[in-house]
Amino acid sequence: KEGAEKFTFQAEVNRLMDILIHSLYSNKEIFLRELISNAADALDKIRFLSLTDKDQLGDTPDLEIRVKVDHDNRILTIRDTGVGMTREDLVKNLGTIAKSGTSAFLEQMQKSNDINLIGQFGVGFYSVYLVADYVEVISKHNDDKQWVWESSADGNFAVSEDKGDSLGRGTLLKIHVKEDAMEYLEEAKLKELVAKYSEFINFPIYLYSSKEVEKEVPVDDEPEEDAEEGTDADKGDDEESDDVEDADEEEDEEEEDAPKTKKVKETVWDWDLLNDNKALWLRSPSDVSHEEYANFYKALAKSDYEKAAAHVHFRAEGDVEFRALLYVPERAPPNFLSDYYGHKPSLKLYVRRVFISDDFEELIPRYLSFLKGIVDSDTLPLSVSRETLQAHSSLKVIKKKIVRKVLDTLKRLSDAERDAAKNDSPDEEEKKEAEKFGTFWKEFGRAIKLGIIEDSANRPRLAKLLRVRTSADPEKLVSLDDYISRMKEDQKQIFYLTGASVEDLQKSVFLEKLIQKGYEVIFFTEPIDEYVMTHVTEYDDKKFQDASKDDVKLGKDDKKGLKKLKEEFKDVLAWWKELLGAAVGQVKVSNRLATSPAIVLTSKYGWSANMERIMKSQAL
Ligand code: ADP
Ligand code: MG
Repeated sequence: KEGAEKFTFQAEVNRLMDILIHSLYSNKEIFLRELISNAADALDKIRFLSLTDKDQLGDTPDLEIRVKVDHDNRILTIRDTGVGMTREDLVKNLGTIAKSGTSAFLEQMQKSNDINLIGQFGVGFYSVYLVADYVEVISKHNDDKQWVWESSADGNFAVSEDKGDSLGRGTLLKIHVKEDAMEYLEEAKLKELVAKYSEFINFPIYLYSSKEVEKEVPVDDEPEEDAEEGTDADKGDDEESDDVEDADEEEDEEEEDAPKTKKVKETVWDWDLLNDNKALWLRSPSDVSHEEYANFYKALAKSDYEKAAAHVHFRAEGDVEFRALLYVPERAPPNFLSDYYGHKPSLKLYVRRVFISDDFEELIPRYLSFLKGIVDSDTLPLSVSRETLQAHSSLKVIKKKIVRKVLDTLKRLSDAERDAAKNDSPDEEEKKEAEKFGTFWKEFGRAIKLGIIEDSANRPRLAKLLRVRTSADPEKLVSLDDYISRMKEDQKQIFYLTGASVEDLQKSVFLEKLIQKGYEVIFFTEPIDEYVMTHVTEYDDKKFQDASKDDVKLGKDDKKGLKKLKEEFKDVLAWWKELLGAAVGQVKVSNRLATSPAIVLTSKYGWSANMERIMKSQAL
């Protein structure tokens, strides 16, 4: 275009676009989800800005999305009245600055060739090149003139001032549809998809569509003389529906008393509202079906087949009123644990149905930041800055209540699993419920452990969710309650051992005596377990005891024999201590072993051998 400035895409973005435009991936339709979600984001932004400055809406007060097809030119347009983009935004957001997710997404795609998750990596816009070979993005932001960004995914894009019709405010995407994606120009297809992907968008979405309407038109049934005039008039009126007209006429002829009017079908074009933009979370849980919950989750997760393991939907009343609909995903988000401190929470905060933010870290503790969902508060003030909101005391209350509710739900899943294990013949429903916690633990067990370290207030609740392997059957994961229910009568402590693997631990000399006495020992094999155990010292009034430390308490019967042995070996011990010197704290006779002659133990106050191993590996 005239006066356009040319830019080259950032290298990774370029690679991504190249893959998308040449993709034979069958599930191309997801581009629409991404573009609609971008439009909705932009609308959320202008609505938020308008809270503190009414003038922001200007002469474009309707917040909406409109989708239209131009068949002749093979163009699909999507227009929103959102915040729009300045020239600088267009350059930055659509090309020159790579989002952190770009390379992560490329990597993921190499593994699975699955484009569906593109939105989760923050590069959803580019999915438009699944169906287009050329795209124009015309945008008008309140702070700038109207600009057009254009690219045919050939490594370059251009930005120039747009001299076309003024948008007022917002963004218009002109999508030049590829030969192999023509189905996305079909009205029925678009209707189906827009409905599917816009079901939970909180702004009206219109599709320009045709409708067949029946119309009553006067029919000429006067005597022959007038016939010619009448026929002419009819034709001029309604050329398209000739066939229909003929059919009607035949019917008319059969009737003796023909009516003065007749019905004809006519095609009219109009904007069709495709969603009723209801806020699912405002409804009572008893009015929401399983399917609606599942579909809402898909919309939140920006994925067609992502499922939730559980959801929590409640309304809090009292001083701080809010509603929350939260989901525990079936799978951990891509970077949740690999980038624990960089991972952003994804709860959306609304205040009285107005979207405020989706990265309020004050809303949810880090270890639960894998939750997806919506919190809608009635108590928080609307027209204040983000900073004021972030510091608002209600947030603390909301956070506390959310955590409680989520942990309650997880506890329910955990109990369902334990109950099913006790039940010899669980039915299908029970089995399904029972499996949920196992899946959850596999994906998010680490998060629960991190919670134990980070959230002292909820530590006991979190400890209830722990699953461990033990010497009884290392194949099985059991809860601490299971362990306690199997403790021997004279057993005072909960024994555990930490090490690199279950196999190592099974061979441990520290186990000998405990096993011989019939005690069960918990095996901890993850590095994080050592840290967890420094925070959990007891459970259900029973103290945890590291079996590799020197303060393991065994039953009374061993005491007498021990005293005798101590006398007997006094000289040997003195000699030995002298020999080893400062390398050890002390040398003593103990009843800790069954068959091995000697072991090196850590003092109750020292780091375990395993902890030393972990520290060493971290120092490297
Ligand atoms: P994400 O939506 O996760 O940020 P996208 O690749 O979908 O990633 O979009 C990139 C950015 O482009 C958005 O963050 C937004 O700033 C901008 N953008 C895209 N579409 C629109 C739009 N319709 N209106 C305003 N800005 C948009
Ligand atoms: Mg997006």
